[in-house]
Amino acid sequence: MRQDIPKSVDVLIVGAGPTGLVAANHIAFAGKSVLIVDRNPAPLNLPRAISIDDEGCRTIAAAGLADLLQAILRPGAGSRYVDERGGIVGEVGPGPVEYGWPRRNNFHQPELEHVLRAGLERFSHATLIDGADMTGFEQFPGGITAMVAGTPVQAAVMIAAEGARSQTRDALGIDMPGEAYPQDWIVMDLHRDADQEPVSKFFCDPARPWVSIPTTFGGRRYEFMLLPGETADEMLKFDTLQRLLAPIRPLAPDDIMRAVVYRFEARIAERWGEGRVWLAGDAAHLTPPFAGQGMNSGIRDAHNLAWKAVLVADGADPAILESYQAERRAPAKAMVQLAVAMGEVVMPVGQGKALFRDALMLGLERFPDARDYIIGMRFKPKPRYTDGLFIGMGAPDEPPASLIGAMLPNPKLADGWLDDQLGPGFALIAQNATCRKWLEQADLSAWPAPIARVSLPVDAWKTDPETFRPIHAHRDALMLVRPDRYVMTAFGPEAAGEVLGEICKAFTNA
Ligand SMILES: Cc1cc2nc3c(=O)[nH]c(=O)nc-3n(C[C@H](O)[C@H](O)[C@H](O)COP(=O)(O)OP(=O)(O)OC[C@H]3O[C@@H](n4cnc5c(N)ncnc54)[C@H](O)[C@@H]3O)c2cc1C
Repeated sequence: MRQDIPKSVDVLIVGAGPTGLVAANHIAFAGKSVLIVDRNPAPLNLPRAISIDDEGCRTIAAAGLADLLQAILRPGAGSRYVDERGGIVGEVGPGPVEYGWPRRNNFHQPELEHVLRAGLERFSHATLIDGADMTGFEQFPGGITAMVAGTPVQAAVMIAAEGARSQTRDALGIDMPGEAYPQDWIVMDLHRDADQEPVSKFFCDPARPWVSIPTTFGGRRYEFMLLPGETADEMLKFDTLQRLLAPIRPLAPDDIMRAVVYRFEARIAERWGEGRVWLAGDAAHLTPPFAGQGMNSGIRDAHNLAWKAVLVADGADPAILESYQAERRAPAKAMVQLAVAMGEVVMPVGQGKALFRDALMLGLERFPDARDYIIGMRFKPKPRYTDGLFIGMGAPDEPPASLIGAMLPNPKLADGWLDDQLGPGFALIAQNATCRKWLEQADLSAWPAPIARVSLPVDAWKTDPETFRPIHAHRDALMLVRPDRYVMTAFGPEAAGEVLGEICKAFTNA
């Protein structure tokens, strides 16, 4: 990895938090030069996000980091919701594996950032500079120029993964309106906890809701809502923390890894960028952490934007970057609303709301599927886009008939996961004999990026039938999968030349 500021790169990334680092790994893995800068002199050695979902893990694995990631994860065993009398309101297990990774995994954010930084060291065309501020930028027809630590840097695309207080967002005049939601919570990461159960526990006490989440370092994270009139200064005093925890565990000063008061906010940027400059991660959306989705949404942004930035650096029309907002903004907004709703239902403040929750949960006892749907976050939107760079996905209000627009499931095959065969770029999947024959003989040399040919045997579904089912439904078509693992289109071999030619043209016409 280079250590000096290059004058020109394919992609400039501002902000070396998880979003920026994931995007940088994908761009460098695709062979493009990338400069990632952070104004902090060194990575923050403190945990913030502590839960990564299956989609997030799959994204990081797709940048060639599966083993390093696996080594720092502790798969979550589910969640339990407890009322103020200690009664269990609801409980869910870890859930099925659809995308190759457990649905929820605990991790330590400094370790994850270390893995992502180590990932960049694989490439001589990646540069990561700490302590370098990006102070301004200009767009011109062929790219952007940004001032990085006083040096002008040119790039084809700039990704502003600058966190909640993004200057680029302000410079583009983009508003980030929020809901009337802000709540202050104490977030405490503690060493040495007697409670080693790998279950996230939500104590829905209307007098003061609190949360206890397992961590990977043998401790737990505790979160307590601040009540009206309570101040951060007073609540962060050791005596106060000790008093809050007294019914739960003893506390010594050196048990505290960190304790902060953190404002839970729900906001989404009105636009996510323009031209060749795009916001990603917390710069584009802020969510209360009840659904554990803040960082995960940022990782999805990074995967979506990275391969499009790579194509633009290769001369594709920058208009394809607009599909990033078309695809990502609506699901990110849905995720913010989901987290707010979860907070309202499971963490009610005040007796009236608690009674409503209890009545709701009691009523749902007779309908376990519906209860799991709420408690188990089954209403977490499936990874499926309704707009963007897809062909033949059908109208947004039609029920989805196919995988087009959706994330491809990642079933277990006889010799590993499907993802192992997809590679880092595009992939064409064939299943029936006609499609396989076409794929074997097809000339894909005009395709503007690496494309893997994946021929699945007719009985491939047998190892993992449930996960494979939607793929099997496309067995008479060729499926084109994008680098972010979303199915771009599906077509019969007779239409292949025309469809692929059209996509190639759209990507390469600068
Ligand atoms: C207490 C807490 C608990 C959380 N729990 C969870 C959880 O369980 N699950 C989850 O998914 N999320 C959680 N989150 C949210 C998660 O931490 C954030 O969503 C995530 O860190 C955002 O990543 P990011 O890369 O978008 O931004 P950040 O991590 O904020 O990184 C942005 C970086 O950009 C740099 N920067 C900004 N402007 C410039 C500039 N002009 N020039 C150079 N550098 C610049 C900053 O120094 C910063 O390092 C939690 C957050 C907190 C605070």
